[in-house]
Amino acid sequence: MQRLPVENWYDTFNGAAGDLYPGRYTREYTSLLVDIAGRVRELAECKQSLIVAHNYQFPELQEVAAEVGDSLGLSRYVARQDSPRVDFCGVWFMGETAKTIVGAKTKVYMPDKPGCSLVESIDHARVRRWKQACPDGIVISYVNTDAATKALSDYICTSRNAARVLDHAATNNPGKRILFLPDKFLGSVSIAQSEVVDGSLVDLYDGCCHVHAKIGETALEEAFDRHPHAELLIHPECGCASHCMAKVMQGNSPYQKAFFLSTEGMIRHAESSPAREFIVGTEMGMVYRLRREIPEKVFHPVSPDAVCEYMKMNTLEKLLGSLENDRIEVTVEADTADKARTAIDRMLSIH
Ligand code: SF4
Repeated sequence: MQRLPVENWYDTFNGAAGDLYPGRYTREYTSLLVDIAGRVRELAECKQSLIVAHNYQFPELQEVAAEVGDSLGLSRYVARQDSPRVDFCGVWFMGETAKTIVGAKTKVYMPDKPGCSLVESIDHARVRRWKQACPDGIVISYVNTDAATKALSDYICTSRNAARVLDHAATNNPGKRILFLPDKFLGSVSIAQSEVVDGSLVDLYDGCCHVHAKIGETALEEAFDRHPHAELLIHPECGCASHCMAKVMQGNSPYQKAFFLSTEGMIRHAESSPAREFIVGTEMGMVYRLRREIPEKVFHPVSPDAVCEYMKMNTLEKLLGSLENDRIEVTVEADTADKARTAIDRMLSIH
């Protein structure tokens, strides 16, 4: 995303994010943010820090970042840049994923230490018990997990490649049980998308993200009523995802206009689609990124409730504090990082 000059912050934030964060971007607060951003940029340059921000971060954090994206995309970006320091604006497991991938050569700092309801739904002891009960079973974990869960896994997957990773694991391990965790909605959509996987051999962990669980069937139908000509870009973690997938498969209107996409997939789809208007079925921050990157099209949030309080714990003020005081450094124990990296590499080797 090309950086916006700070002189344009007030107008752009109110134009592209005024409805997402009502009352946030007053003249006074925006001018304070502009001052802080100047100091953040100076310090980042002085400390040779690369600032990266997840798609769900506030606009001002997206604007000071060198790169905006999803968790794995950002970690891989950071690894390519070879910077001695990274300030990662996202939730804790994302900082861990970046640290796992970059290793000792890069220090990773975060403005705060936000959790994540999806990660907190995982009980490591329960995963270990499953592995004991199915010693030749395969564990596939979504990239949105902590380093300890990744270390217990054979494969990692993203929302973009989950069906492909499931296909690969099932084809190479015929007849073996698979544990898919933690997101039950992503798991059931991926099984439905697969032509290879025997669903009776897959144990779906009962976890979900509270933000996506809130985007249920009713929110979707109300959004379609408000915007009857829009396409729906839906993240497969959404609570409505399996219901929506069933409607798509039955060819029900208006669900033929629903597309299951990762956050990066949403950008590519919206750029190339002939449609002019889209409902965005994921966290609010993504709407700002889509509006900034594709200003000629119209994007509506699926619901005013699609806000992740964990992601929003990061602020520009805290990022400045991190750069000033090196407050919160991410560390991952070496053995855990080695095992987690093996599971990530196994995913990356699947084409
Ligand atoms: S939206 Fe928030 S709670 Fe949900 S997976 Fe992302 S970080 Fe976790």
